[in-house]
Amino acid sequence: MSDSTKNTEKLRIGVLALQGAFREHANILRALGAEVVEVRLPAHLDGLDGLVIPGGESTTIGKLAVRWDLLAPLQEKGRAGFPIWGTCAGAIFLSKDANREQHLLKLMDITVERNAFGRQLDSFEADLDIKGLDAPFPAVFIRAPSIETVGENVDVLCQLADGRMVAVREGNFLATSFHPELTDDMRFHELFLDMVRAG
Ligand code: GLN
Repeated sequence: MSDSTKNTEKLRIGVLALQGAFREHANILRALGAEVVEVRLPAHLDGLDGLVIPGGESTTIGKLAVRWDLLAPLQEKGRAGFPIWGTCAGAIFLSKDANREQHLLKLMDITVERNAFGRQLDSFEADLDIKGLDAPFPAVFIRAPSIETVGENVDVLCQLADGRMVAVREGNFLATSFHPELTDDMRFHELFLDMVRAG
């Protein structure tokens, strides 16, 4: 298939639908013209162009991924270059270390601190400048992790004023501490679809 054919074809994007805000992601991806597959079993990964892992509770997502035998196939596909975007709990699940015992994909060379913004800032919104987007993005944080350390191949797309990283990319992996699926701004999903098309 030539690149030009691929560009006009409908992308088939999986949304890991074990727990959390997967419907919101699915709605936006569909609005942007993608075919969406809710992924609950390894067979659902067949034929996908990319995958979104939603926010929710990373320990629960990890446990369910183990129970449904999804951990190994996801790791295998990820290592082979399959595009994956994790939001919030999804970003934690993608990371190599969350400073706790829990099931992680360990695909991204990032370490995260869960619930990094403390009680008072449990949930907040901020307009953030994101590398690759032309105007500030309304970012919703809910018991969000911060990205504490990144490997040398990780590109930092967004840092808060205090220096904490909240959006990063490493090759075909994308991680955001916040929830672009909980706003009606679809630019972050467009950015991911562009990444999938290019990949
Ligand atoms: N605090 C959750 C966790 O540690 C993430 C919260 C979210 O995804 N909104 O997994």
